[in-house]
Amino acid sequence: MNLQDIKILTELLVKRPKISIIPHKNPDGDAIGSCLALYQYLRKKQHDVCVVSPTDYPDFLKWLPDNDSVLVFTNNSQEALNQIANSELIFTLDFNSLYRADTLTEALQASKADFVMIDHHQQPDTYAAVTYSDSTASSTCELIYKFIEKLGDVELIDQDIATCLYTGIMTDTGSFKYSLTTATTHRIVASLIEKGANPSLISTNVFDSYSIDRLQLLGKALDNLVFIEQYQTAYITLSANDLKQFNFQKGDTEGVVNYGLRIKQADLAVIFIEEENEKIIKISFRSKGNLDVNVLARKYFSGGGHINASGGRSEESLEDTLAYFLKILPEFLSLPEAYNSTI
Ligand code: 5GP
Ligand code: MN
Repeated sequence: MNLQDIKILTELLVKRPKISIIPHKNPDGDAIGSCLALYQYLRKKQHDVCVVSPTDYPDFLKWLPDNDSVLVFTNNSQEALNQIANSELIFTLDFNSLYRADTLTEALQASKADFVMIDHHQQPDTYAAVTYSDSTASSTCELIYKFIEKLGDVELIDQDIATCLYTGIMTDTGSFKYSLTTATTHRIVASLIEKGANPSLISTNVFDSYSIDRLQLLGKALDNLVFIEQYQTAYITLSANDLKQFNFQKGDTEGVVNYGLRIKQADLAVIFIEEENEKIIKISFRSKGNLDVNVLARKYFSGGGHINASGGRSEESLEDTLAYFLKILPEFLSLPEAYNSTI
């Protein structure tokens, strides 16, 4: 975000517009954390603002300050659509292509509002008047901190805002260990702790809050794991039946894909989840080093994301999706662009 962007944004905010803040479908800690932090900041600046989520999200995020203010489309669709239709300024956070807003995509496309994108994924679309996109940032929450800083308002970050931002940075960095965790990330995190974020409480709320079913579903997933030595690839499948057996709740499969990378020789980990209600296979990819799973997700599975973490989907059966993956895997691994040259 350069000086020109700050000028445009300041001019937009001076008009006291009606504001909506939108996370991506199935928001994670970074998406909800960044939306609630920005919501609280804009409220402090006396703005008329509301967070509208395309779908519901896991219980382990519902303790966040001001969670009750979030309007969830799947719970209250008319109110969510009215809010968007009446908005004059719309922030889209933690995604960079309108299709990721899922249930809200059409309403966003139809909107006459000015858009501001704040995001850290690869290859942003160009729908926004202000695009603050930095794929080297650990998380959108890190960018929200910098955004508030650029507007000269760091002193407005209170304990609630700090708690939301800390949560997003912690979840998107895998507790401060993924490759985009930098000295800047740690400086921001230190500042958030000084402002009142409680690391051990936040970690307990997010990570040590499993149901027994969720923990046993993880056991099932690990049992289903297959490692292909030749391609240094670990994959997990979870069928709709597996999910049913363990009384699946939203968020229960979050983080499961990462276990594949625990294998020393594994460079690529994949999970295929048969989502019964949506009749699609949700796919998550994770990698080590410069193996670029954003390319894998974009080229073969209508998805995208980051170099080391991305997602996609398939409308085929679980069996056919897996067969397709196994067919394209050697081809993908032989592409020059499968190995990102920037890291
Ligand atoms: P996950 O596998 O945890 O759903 O997503 C991993 C990362 O990829 C997240 O940053 C997420 O926002 C992104 N991602 C997941 N699915 C998609 C998708 O379909 N398209 C794009 N562009 N990004 C995705
Ligand atoms: Mn993120």
